[in-house]
Parts: sequence; structure tokens; C-alpha cells
Amino acid sequence: MNRTLDRFSHRLSVVFGLVFGYSLNKTHAQNKLARHIVVLNGKTSPSEIINEVADCLKGILGYRLFAFVNKKNAGMDVWLDPRMYKTSIEDIIIKDFQIKDSKDLTYLNIHKDQEECLEKFSLDSLVHYDHKEENCYSRLYMMPSRPITAFHDDVVRIVLQGCSSALSRQIKIQHLKDAAAIDPLTGCYNRGAFEAQLKGHAASAGRHKKPLSVFMFDLDHFKSVNDTYGHLGGDEVLKEVSRLVRRNIRTEDIFARYGGEEFIAILPETDQTHAIELADRLRQKICALRIPFNNRTIRVTGSFGVAQLGTNADIVKLVEDADSMLYKAKFNGRNTVMPGLIRVHRDETSESLIQA
Ligand code: GH3
Ligand code: MG
Ligand code: MG
Repeated sequence: MNRTLDRFSHRLSVVFGLVFGYSLNKTHAQNKLARHIVVLNGKTSPSEIINEVADCLKGILGYRLFAFVNKKNAGMDVWLDPRMYKTSIEDIIIKDFQIKDSKDLTYLNIHKDQEECLEKFSLDSLVHYDHKEENCYSRLYMMPSRPITAFHDDVVRIVLQGCSSALSRQIKIQHLKDAAAIDPLTGCYNRGAFEAQLKGHAASAGRHKKPLSVFMFDLDHFKSVNDTYGHLGGDEVLKEVSRLVRRNIRTEDIFARYGGEEFIAILPETDQTHAIELADRLRQKICALRIPFNNRTIRVTGSFGVAQLGTNADIVKLVEDADSMLYKAKFNGRNTVMPGLIRVHRDETSESLIQA
């Protein structure tokens, strides 16, 4: 009788232990989750937000986050577990979201040329969760380490919701920052943003003893474009010219609308000769541009001034120098770059450019 009672009380204590232990674990997990959500809300960049999500899923559920996708108006941000074989998950994302080209994916945490590691996984074991917030649509791809319970399901959904709100807030902040820095007509940086960027780039060029140049250009006889085609025609020209320049400069160059029909660009790590060559290529492209407007075609030209930052990193002088070169270009008949370059033939095989 005693032995039966002992066995019964042992079983009871095991059952109690399991239930009580589970609820303790659950409370512990909930506390951890709450802490992660608070941390998530303090993060200020998409990759920081998603790293926190990966830590959270691993820490609470032992799940490995494979990929995170955030769909925006144009393109998608993708975070990938760096141990993942990129091509295989990319194929899944492209298929799931019916994306035409992998170029529309922006990777938040891996470089384009990063070596791929060939880790094999079975597609059947991959699960995904979706969440939609007003301005963002997110999906988590995960590899659970054990069968998913209702509790696990809840945790993932809460994490995903926290992550989406943090990202959505981030997107709104970025829009506000863009609104303050971007010229609404052309989509270029505005003058204020240009000045702030120039300060930073000039300081860095001075510190690292690297060259930095600017080119400035003003569209020629723009008043007569407005007079002939109307203000809307003029606006169309400003949009097309800035689009053309943006397409033909490097991503690290900063291109801004300085005012009216005048633009300026910061060219980091570029000396004056290369800046003049670039300015002249752009001048030719602007001259060759045909802008359709109301069944007519508008053509424009631009006058360019180029200057290189001096050793004293004086940015006021840099802009003044470019401006006075631009003035010279106007004086020299417009549709030209100042200073100009002349080709010097040393022998039959080599030639070099020097300033005129
Ligand atoms: P120049 O070759 O000497 O530069 O002659 P210009 O006619 O281009 O120069 P001017 O300064 O006489 O005229 C500039 C014109 O640019 C006048 C102004 O109305 C026009 N403009 C400035 N901002 C805008 C804009 O946002 N949209 C349009 N459509 N026109 C603008
Ligand atoms: Mg002008
Ligand atoms: Mg002007």
C-alpha cells in the first residue's frame, strides 16, 4: 500500500514539476521577449533591428532566423543569415514575391561580392511568417529547431509585429529626413543638405590627404526655355537634366540643386583634371539630350565651373572658385567647362591632358 502511495506521489510530483517548470520557462521567455521588444524600439537602423530579432528568436525559441524581407514601394530590403547559401534563399524570395530581377533586392547585412557558404538545408523545414504594417510588409523565413507549438507561434508573431513597427517608424523618420534634404522637383539634395555634406567630405579629405573636387553648372538661357515652353516645360528640363547627371556620376558623389537652374556636385577622391573630364562628358550629354514636351522637343546646354579643394580645406573658397569658373564659362560663350583641358601628344602612343 505504502509503495503504491509512494509511486503515486512520485508521479504527481513529476507532473507538477513539468507543468510548473513549463510555466516558469514560459514566464522567463515572456520577460525576455518584453526586454527584446524594448531594445528593438530603441534601434535606429534596419540591420540593427533585424539583428535584434535574430538574437531574440535564437535566445527564446532556439530558432535560427534564415532571412528577413521588408517590401517597400520600390524594391525590397533583405537580411540574410550570413551562414546561408545566398542564391538558394534568393530564389525563394524572388519566387515568393514575384520579383523580376535580383537587382531589386537590397542586402542589409551582406556585401554583393561576399563569399557564399554552401550550407545545405531542406526547403520543407523552412517556415515563414508575414506581417503588414501601414507602410511596410515583412516576412520572416526561419528554421525551427523543434516542432512549432502555439506558444512558439505567439512569440514569433509578437516579435515580427515589434520588428515591423520599429521598421515602419524607421521608414517614416527616413521620409522626414529626405523631405528636409531633398529638392522635391528634381529629387536631388537641396542646398542645405549639400552644405552639410560638403563640410563632412572636406574634413575627411583633409584628414586622409585625398583630393576632392566640385563641379557647378548653370543651364544656359533658361529664361528663354520658360518663355518658349512655359514653366512646366522648364520644370521638365530640370527633372531630365538632373536625372541624366545622377545616372552618370558615382554613387558616392553628392549631387544637389544649388538654386533655380544651377546645380553642384561633390566628387570625393577626385582631382581637378578628372573632375573637368567628368564635367565635360556631362556637358556633352546635356547638349545631346532631347526632352519631349507637349509634342515638341526641348534642347538645352549648360556652363560648368570646376574647382579642387585646397590643402587648407577651405570650403567657402572651393565653392567660390567653382562659381567664378562657371562665370568664366558663361563669359566664354556658354556650353563649356572652365578650366578647360587641352590634349598634349607626347608621342604617337601617349597623350595626356593638362589644364588650358
Ligand atoms: P544664363 O545663360 O546667363 O544662365 O541665362 P538664364 O536665362 O539661364 O539665366 P537667368 O538668371 O536670367 O534666368 C534663370 C531662369 O530660371 C529664370 C527663372 O524663372 C528660372 N527658374 C528658376 N527656378 C526655376 C524652376 O524651378 N522652374 C522653372 N521652370 N524655372 C525656374
Ligand atoms: Mg542660367
Ligand atoms: Mg542661374
